[in-house]
Amino acid sequence: MRKVVVGFSGGITSAWCAGWALRNFPKEEIVLLFHDTKAEDADTYRFLHEMAARLELPITERSDGRSLDEVFEDHNAIASDRMAFCSEDLKQIPGTKYIEELGSAGFDEIVRVVGFSAMEVARVQRYAAACMKLSGLFCTVTARFPLIEESVTKQDCADWCSCTMGVPVPAMYTWSDHANCVGCVRGGKAYWLAVKENAPEVFEHRKAQEKQFGHQMFRHYVSLEDLEKSGLKREVNRKESIAIGPCECGA
Ligand code: SF4
Repeated sequence: MRKVVVGFSGGITSAWCAGWALRNFPKEEIVLLFHDTKAEDADTYRFLHEMAARLELPITERSDGRSLDEVFEDHNAIASDRMAFCSEDLKQIPGTKYIEELGSAGFDEIVRVVGFSAMEVARVQRYAAACMKLSGLFCTVTARFPLIEESVTKQDCADWCSCTMGVPVPAMYTWSDHANCVGCVRGGKAYWLAVKENAPEVFEHRKAQEKQFGHQMFRHYVSLEDLEKSGLKREVNRKESIAIGPCECGA
């Protein structure tokens, strides 16, 4: 018995991957797997539900239960690009538990579908290796990367969501190039200046958390407060400013 598990995060690439799965596998085998970080933008939840309805598939949620802030409290630290334990706790571990659950239910073949692009070579390698590691423990687990297989761009995914499916893309994309948690700890300085402009309450909250935990998200001891004062050393274009990747789970 097989299941095709699509990481369904609220982003446009994962939505496109769900459409790809429907074109390539029987509908009854497909699972849209969502992990709630409780730090998503409100419009991301709207997108998730509208897209799932258009795909005529239910959302399967397996969440840790804690919020992003609660994870920071438990680790007594603010996560960062160098130690994104939030992704591990809130997405990767619940994802692995779900695979285990499927294995226990008798499924012997799991295909995991994730929206990594060809630009994300290291992540693709890590994800494929993690699936290989799971294989044999619970059942056969393989990874598929449809954006790479079909040379699909993020713009193609956005067009497919809004034009083909008629579902407006999440509001986050007006200022961020991922529908990650609002104020994703993996974001760079340009991203955080965009957070300050578009979600000032989140900026202030993380600034306070940097003080509370006594360390910073950026390298070289640069805090959000420093960034606020100094700004960027040079102008960056939108493409550079998206130096933030999707959450490590690929969703
Ligand atoms: S999207 Fe960013 S902040 Fe949210 S869990 Fe993933 S790495 Fe952490």
